Amino acid sequence: IFALRSSYCFSTGAAEPSSSLPSPPRVPNLIGGKFVDSQSSSTIDVINPATQEAVSRVPFTTNEEFRAAVSAAKQAFPAWRNTPITTRQRVMLKLQELIRRDIDKLAMNITTEQGKTLKDAHGDVFRGLEVVEHACGMATLQMGEYVPNVSNGIDTFSIREPLGVCAGICPFNFPAMIPLWMFPVAVTCGNTFILKPSEKDPGASIILAELAMEAGLPDGVLNIVHGTNDVVNAICDDDDIRAISFVGSNTAGMHIYSRASAKGKRVQSNMGAKNHAIVLPDANVDATLNALVAAGFGAAGQRCMALSTVVFVGDPQSWENKLVERAKSLKVNSGMEPDADLGPVISKQAKERVCRLIQSGVESGARLLLDGRNIVVPGFEHGNFIGPTILSGVTADMECYKEEIFGPVLLCMEAGSVEEAINILNRNKYGNGAAIFTASGAAARKFQTEIEAGQVGINVPIPVPLPFFSFTGSKASFAGDLNFYGKAGVNFYTQIKTITQQWKDLPGGSGVSLAMPTSQ
Ligand code: NAD
Repeated sequence: IFALRSSYCFSTGAAEPSSSLPSPPRVPNLIGGKFVDSQSSSTIDVINPATQEAVSRVPFTTNEEFRAAVSAAKQAFPAWRNTPITTRQRVMLKLQELIRRDIDKLAMNITTEQGKTLKDAHGDVFRGLEVVEHACGMATLQMGEYVPNVSNGIDTFSIREPLGVCAGICPFNFPAMIPLWMFPVAVTCGNTFILKPSEKDPGASIILAELAMEAGLPDGVLNIVHGTNDVVNAICDDDDIRAISFVGSNTAGMHIYSRASAKGKRVQSNMGAKNHAIVLPDANVDATLNALVAAGFGAAGQRCMALSTVVFVGDPQSWENKLVERAKSLKVNSGMEPDADLGPVISKQAKERVCRLIQSGVESGARLLLDGRNIVVPGFEHGNFIGPTILSGVTADMECYKEEIFGPVLLCMEAGSVEEAINILNRNKYGNGAAIFTASGAAARKFQTEIEAGQVGINVPIPVPLPFFSFTGSKASFAGDLNFYGKAGVNFYTQIKTITQQWKDLPGGSGVSLAMPTSQ
């Protein structure tokens, strides 16, 4: 049994592969309020993508341990749902304070395990923290509705009740923000929770769980299990789990959506993206270039809201030249280094895949304006680095366009008009985010009306909505009907109960009527 601590995930030293070093610490499960080492001997190492150092080892939760986690969540539910909403909110109020206290520790863990720059890792935590802050107002968010006297002496009201045990399955790219999209909303609504962090970077979830318990979350309300397909399938199949939140790729997301919904569960599944920006000739040059570079290459392109394709309306040449100049000036380095603009991609396999898709673009006729494939970062020669890469003359039939690249690669396309550009975007199978850069209100309004995407930016490179709105997504980027956080998030984690009550002095001898009751 582990004490409440997370020091196991803070080894950041070696820049060389570490086969001669002792075994890395094992990441515990959290079951019924206790951090426990798994009995499993099947494990996967968490690898620092800048150094290849094994940071920690994730045992795959066994079936018995998974059942114990669900059972702990089920047992904790009756008392937790009956805990006053104000008390549940206060746990979140404390949690947001503790996250602020430990934000540097969380960011350091994220940079170590995921690779993004420390500044970006702070942003990862902060955007999740805002969801915790929002959950502090749950009493208002969860309020029901009341209509008095729907019939003589009869009132009807509806209340939003928690579902029971809910589960969350997370991707690697936002190790703090995405768990925080999930469990704070779910538990403040009165549910209990099973969290399955990404096996590639589970450290932030463990730290957040420690903080949640320090904030007063009772034992069993939040549980953590680890693994990949098997534990995810167990979550989909388990009769005690009522709802699943998923964020990740389409392969996993559609599998989870179909398998879990076939078992009658609610599922919200946020999936892949190919986010486009349309740039009109009247756009502010400096601000637009900065936005394209930041959204294209920030986090090494591993954000679901990263900009991966720019469609220039009119002559692209001068835009592309300036884009290349700005992209060249970015510093690729270990995320720990203060001068880093972008760090490595998550794994050797991810790097190989990104490089393969760049090459396929070249082979199908795109022009490689900037090639980041052969970059070497002094001191971090083993890191999975790819420098900013720009392909121009890309067309919709190319593999590099059809696939989500998830790396620091910006594709440039051309269109003769706004209509043509909008059509390109709408024909793409994904619909996560889309942006337009222009000085024309009419063009922006047309874009906003006609574009098929969840998050729409106007002179903003694809904004992630703050928690009083919801993070959405359309077409292949989302399955389900209730989105993450905001009002939809509360609706996802609650079900409506409608109560009709009669309180009046009833006259005797009125007889029995078998007709369908109607309002009197
Ligand atoms: P991933 O799908 O590989 O993994 C996500 C989770 O699913 C992990 O916990 C993993 O263990 C599990 N998993 C993976 N394959 C599985 C399978 N076959 N069966 C069951 N479970 C499986 O995703 P990733 O590589 O960690 O994350 C990157 C992806 O996430 C990108 O496609 C990105 O666009 C997407 N993403 C989307 C959003 C959004 O809000 N739309 C946000 C962040 C990331």
